[in-house]
Amino acid sequence: MTHLRHHNTTCAVCGESCRFTIPEAAGSVGSRDLDTRPAEPLRSTIYAWVKRCPSCGYCAPDPGKALEGVADVVKLPRYRWQLDSRKFPKIANTFLCWSIIQEDLGTPAQAAWASLHAAWICDDEGEDVAARVCRTRAADLLRRAWEKGERLASQPGTDEALLADLLRRAGRLREARAVVKKALEQNPQPVIADILRLQARLIAASDRGVHTVAEARRFSRPAPL
Ligand SMILES: [Zn+2]
Repeated sequence: MTHLRHHNTTCAVCGESCRFTIPEAAGSVGSRDLDTRPAEPLRSTIYAWVKRCPSCGYCAPDPGKALEGVADVVKLPRYRWQLDSRKFPKIANTFLCWSIIQEDLGTPAQAAWASLHAAWICDDEGEDVAARVCRTRAADLLRRAWEKGERLASQPGTDEALLADLLRRAGRLREARAVVKKALEQNPQPVIADILRLQARLIAASDRGVHTVAEARRFSRPAPL
């Protein structure tokens, strides 16, 4: 069971006093999903990872901390639209607003993570269309990060495995297949290769569902001689 505590802060954008409920630090027991989503109890703490100032709508892991230029981003029409969009669950909007901030401040890798986290919220709420939109956005941001020479993870092939999962679960199967094929040609580490081979099987079966890293290990077979 996760214990909760309260955090009082002052919004760095508008100066409003805010009180947020946050869970105590939690670990996870069990396998991660293919898109890195951790198992419980950490999995369920996602609802507190990004917070929203109830006054001005500034969304951040800590709205008490100002990022340079953020006061302008929260005024953007695009940001205001996202904040109250009815196309997404409310907490997914909070993550997507944080993603817009990261994107606007020039850190697409962080923006990609925030968009993926928004997808997880949509998954939990059974909002499939919204989840696909979030994953498509995360995939686009991930590629933009690569163009800037940034990667989300340092181990070779890890980003590609994540991109394949984003595309598969967004229903972009042909693109996902191409990413898997190219990544396998680079001879990644065995654990990454197992994940990519599972992705290939799922794509072939048009399976857009959630699967775990443990499954990839279970199904792994030695390469034929
Ligand atoms: Zn505020």
